[in-house]
Amino acid sequence: MVETTNQPNPRFVFQEEEMTLPVERLRVEQPAGRRTGCPFHDVREMLREVGLRPTRQRLALGWLLFAKGDRHITAESLHEEALRARFPVSLATVYNTLHQFTEVSLLREVAVDGSKTYFDTNASDHHHFYVEGQSELLDIPGAEVMVDRLPTPPEGFEVARVDVVVRLRRKQPA
Ligand SMILES: [Zn+2]
Repeated sequence: MVETTNQPNPRFVFQEEEMTLPVERLRVEQPAGRRTGCPFHDVREMLREVGLRPTRQRLALGWLLFAKGDRHITAESLHEEALRARFPVSLATVYNTLHQFTEVSLLREVAVDGSKTYFDTNASDHHHFYVEGQSELLDIPGAEVMVDRLPTPPEGFEVARVDVVVRLRRKQPA
């Protein structure tokens, strides 16, 4: 069975189809505290927890990234979303922010080939199907990939993580 939809991240559940960025709230300093159920506030908390200063850019991009639950997104498509949400930001800033989020494990980077890098808002260990020709990345349900014979790492190294990308293509008609 192929899982086509991801489980929503329970911290950020959104009802609205079209999201508009609450730009005015990007300037409002909110006191640190418990999660309020407000996704925007939660992004601020999330940044605080990983030690990233909640700049306007990080808040806005974090909000766009995480408010829609688990998903795989490229820098280019996040950039488009930001512009659509009327948040003017350069593609370079989007790249930098995505890499900063990845460094603190808020995101996971999934490189599919030399030219395509996806950022996964689900940073937990899981593997992916990649649908060739459609540039689509799907989660493989946890228990369905068994990697039980790992190669011995070279002297002085240990295996940090195993990323499996299983490439899919449509079956050719017989
Ligand atoms: Zn994933």
